[in-house]
Amino acid sequence: MSKAFKIIAGVISIGAGLYLASTTAQGSNSMLQVLANGIGWYCIGRGIFMIASSGTPLVRVVSSGPHIDDTQECKSCKSMVHKFASKCRHCGSDLDRG
Ligand SMILES: [Zn+2]
Repeated sequence: MSKAFKIIAGVISIGAGLYLASTTAQGSNSMLQVLANGIGWYCIGRGIFMIASSGTPLVRVVSSGPHIDDTQECKSCKSMVHKFASKCRHCGSDLDRG
């Protein structure tokens, strides 16, 4: 399964899930609506899992957490280097910390 397909399928699944889950908010307690609500929440969870498992950059940024603040961009070669580095490890140019 391709990455793009997983994201699209995940978004569709969440959308369908939200629609099904919202059907119980209309007041009726029939078995069909309880069932639709259950399937809806299942679709939402499944959709989120599909997007997460596709490994999108957004998911990686969220999951990498505080580490995102430990880097800066080298002005010479545009590589990401550590925030407190005094020299770029890629091109060797001096970095000013500011
Ligand atoms: Zn550099």
